[in-house]
Parts: sequence; structure tokens; C-alpha cells
Amino acid sequence: MLPDSYVESRRLFITLAKSLNAETRNYVLESTVIDGIQLSTDVALLGEKDAKTLLVIASGTHGVEGYAGAACQFRFMQTYLERHARPDLAYLLVHAVNPWGYFHDRRVTQEGVDLNRNFIDFSKPPSSEYGPYHNLLVSDYRPLPGGMLNRMWLLFYLARRGQRRQLQAAVTAGQYNQPDGLFFGGIGPSKSRRVWESIIAHHAPGYERLFLLDIHTGLGKRGHGELISHLPSSSPNFTEVNQWFDGDLRSMSDGASVSSPLEGMITTAFVRTSTAPADAVGLEFGTRAPFAVLNALRADQWTWNHLTVVPMRQRMQARNAMKRAFAPSDATWHQMVMARFDRVIQNLVTGLARR
Ligand SMILES: [Zn+2]
Repeated sequence: MLPDSYVESRRLFITLAKSLNAETRNYVLESTVIDGIQLSTDVALLGEKDAKTLLVIASGTHGVEGYAGAACQFRFMQTYLERHARPDLAYLLVHAVNPWGYFHDRRVTQEGVDLNRNFIDFSKPPSSEYGPYHNLLVSDYRPLPGGMLNRMWLLFYLARRGQRRQLQAAVTAGQYNQPDGLFFGGIGPSKSRRVWESIIAHHAPGYERLFLLDIHTGLGKRGHGELISHLPSSSPNFTEVNQWFDGDLRSMSDGASVSSPLEGMITTAFVRTSTAPADAVGLEFGTRAPFAVLNALRADQWTWNHLTVVPMRQRMQARNAMKRAFAPSDATWHQMVMARFDRVIQNLVTGLARR
């Protein structure tokens, strides 16, 4: 099953890493002691010291999506000796890239920022088409039953031909001028981005090849894990990695993926800033219907925009909706995720070892 909380997840991660004699490090997030708990991103390095290739497996870039990502990391460590230990590969598992979001069951960081839109050059932020949707999605949102009219209007809007894809593209692409809105990419590098960059700066040098697998949830068919590349399918790197996955890799820039093209992603930044040849792929597990996921995000954003006046009961409802949308608790979903992860990691390790 998935861990119960960020705290349990972190404890399990460290216990498993220690049982494998992994080298562990703890990156504390400044000014984040909450209820006596210091939030941190933890890493575990496995494998031979002179390995030429480093595979980075990241969880919780989107906070609450860390339950499933961490479960994959646990699975990896539980099967490491029997399946993945190889002389030519080293593995860096990064637990809770955004620990604040994981701890609070939110997708965003403590700055209210979507970390996977935050890896941009802030001297030239991209333009966005989010603005016209903000009122419909967030300002006019109200919890049910009061919010019924707004919800029906949104459903009606999405039912019109082509609107769903258009709205998804405009809204999820990321925006940089509406801090109280959805998919806000920030006004500067977030704390979690800085922590990530210091993790990579410390661990990546010395390897000849690098690969990042960044695990997400919330988009696509329930229980399926889509492999997503930011590269066009015509690029040689896409072709090579796609072969490892038996043609299962989807390009977001070609419109073949469940994800729209995005700005500021951790995968893109990983490749762009790498000093050695590097590839990066997202693994996105479907959870619930898109409308249910969108409503969970709207409730969460609206609640946090009005934190001082929203009653505790409604806050808990919004939080539970986020957990249901991004970390389903049922055993069937968990089994599907584990089975898919097993296959993905097997193909990835085989492909990297063949290089
Ligand atoms: Zn995500």
C-alpha cells in the first residue's frame, strides 16, 4: 500500500536505503519546521563507485504525487539486489523533491508554486493564456452545494467541441502572473528548485551518462503509467529511448501524450543543464477522471486563497479530495502502479546497460 503520510514515507525510505547500505543525504528545506517536523528532501545513492551511468529516480516533484512516487522507490529498493544491481549503473533515489507539498497533500511548494513549471529563466518568463480562465476555475469556485452553478457552467464549457483540450493546454502550460491561480510557475526559483539543483550539482559530476525518471500522478487512464518525453518524436534521443520501452514513449511536443506541452519542467532542465549526455522521462500514472482531478485542484487553490475564513471541515474535505485525486488508496490501483513500474524500470535498466 501507499505510505500514510510524508513522515511515514520518509522513515520507510531511509530504513530501506540503510538496509542496502546506500549512501544517504538529507537536504533540509529552510524555514520549514512544522509541528516539530523539519521537512527535507532525502537522497539514497546505490551502486558501484566507478559506474559510468547514473539513473536518477525522483518522487514528489508535485508534493502529493509523492505517495505513489515513493511507493515506486520502495519497490525499487526491495527488488534492487535481485534485479537492478549492476556494475555499470549507479542509482540516485530522490525522495520528496517538494516535501512541503507532500506534507500538506498539495501539488505546489510552500511558495504556492508548481515546481514543474518553475525551472525557467525568470528574466524572460513565457506568456500564458491562463488569464481568461482564472475566474471560472478559481475566483468563482465555491464548495458544493453553493458552487453547483459554477460547476455546471464549467461542465457545459468543457463539453463544447475542442474546449477541453484548449483549456487543458492553456491552464496546465503554466502561468507566471497569477499567484492565486492554478499551475503558477512562480516569480523566481523556489526553495525546492534550489535544493534539487544542489542535489544534482553534488551527485551528477563524474558520470558519463545521466538519466532522470520523474514520477507523477493525476493524468491519463486509471492505473496506466504513461512515459512522457519533452523531445519531439523525430529526435534521435527520443528514438533510442522509445526502443527501450517497446515504442511506449509519448512526446508531449507532438500532442501524442496525455500531457500538453509545458514550460519549466524538471526533466527539460535536467537535460539542458547537464554537463554529460543526459535524457529525462516523466512517468505519469492516471488516477481519476480529468474533471474530478481538476475540481480537486480548484478546491485546494480556493481553500488556500481563503485559508483564514474557510472552516476546518471544508479544509479537510479539500485536502481529502487532493489525496483521492493524486494518491488513490485502493489496493487495485496500487497493484497496477507497481506492475507498470516494474516493467518500466526493467526496460530502463536494460536499455541503459546496453548503451
Ligand atoms: Zn505531476
